[in-house]
Amino acid sequence: MNPPVRVLYLAGSGRSGSTLVTTVLGQYDGVFAAGELRYLWQRGELENRPCGCGRPLRDCPLWDRVRRELPTDRAAAIAAGLRGRLRMRGLPALLRRHRRGLRPVPAHPDDAVLADLYAAVARHTGARVVVDSSKLPPYGALLGALPGIELRVLHLVRDPRATAFSWRRRRGLDGDTDPELMSRPPVWKAALLWLVWNTVTVRLWGDRAPAGYLRVRYEDLTADPEATLRRIVAFAGADPDGGPFTGPATVRLTPTHSVAGNPSRHRTGPVPITADVQWRRDLSRWSYALVTALTAPGLRRFGYPWRRGGPAPAGAGRPARGGPAATGGRSVGVGRAGSTGHEEG
Ligand SMILES: [Zn+2]
Repeated sequence: MNPPVRVLYLAGSGRSGSTLVTTVLGQYDGVFAAGELRYLWQRGELENRPCGCGRPLRDCPLWDRVRRELPTDRAAAIAAGLRGRLRMRGLPALLRRHRRGLRPVPAHPDDAVLADLYAAVARHTGARVVVDSSKLPPYGALLGALPGIELRVLHLVRDPRATAFSWRRRRGLDGDTDPELMSRPPVWKAALLWLVWNTVTVRLWGDRAPAGYLRVRYEDLTADPEATLRRIVAFAGADPDGGPFTGPATVRLTPTHSVAGNPSRHRTGPVPITADVQWRRDLSRWSYALVTALTAPGLRRFGYPWRRGGPAPAGAGRPARGGPAATGGRSVGVGRAGSTGHEEG
């Protein structure tokens, strides 16, 4: 019997820095940045979109070795099966099953293939930790119930006014030249998705802290990148020494083999990690008010201020260390260059 594969699952809403975190994690010894593996079947296998290394996925030597162990001829059916099982409308039933101690996502014949995928990735990379930045909580719940997988959940949260602004940017799915754009939901929808996915993430895994659940805010991460990444790597059970930091807020990135995700996953070389705060200047008053109203319960829970630049509400979580209230003005950071995470909603 092989030891279980440890999967660090990045959960939460999109545009919260998950692509950046995944790429940086992939630079540590024993950690493999797999990217958004829930898209492996559709965007990787069927559409042959680029791997993090730049090659079309089916031409990547690493994924070639992994794919040989998988029924790739069934990719379309597996992708369709996943879409069907992870629909938003199944969420109430999923939470009900979780409360009763049942499998949140019912078993399915393809589960054996998914378990084989993670085992093959661990075997061919030699990694102790496989980072999956799929983000969608139902997919994480599905993974956590698979045999041979030990799930640790990293919950990334970012100010919902920032994520709503980020969702509206025009961005090619695989870079500026890609005619297929990443999804651009209206701000009200981005706000509701933020509230739903972050709330569900806490419901599913919040009580597993500290060993199985770690919550990190984008604002705290960008205020102190090296220390925050060390905390995440230690939580994942890997060695936090010898990472890619050349300064407290600068990393040197080498290519990863991540599947899907924000186009910034292809960036290499020295990359500064700074907060992307363009939204503070450019998000309209109306959008700010709408997102604030729709996400109010989450703002309090995750410690974000209601007013632009205002203090966090009383009873909120940890204060932001140099977080949103402290970082004014315009900072051109990794987010502007496209490093924040994304999700297809
Ligand atoms: Zn590759």
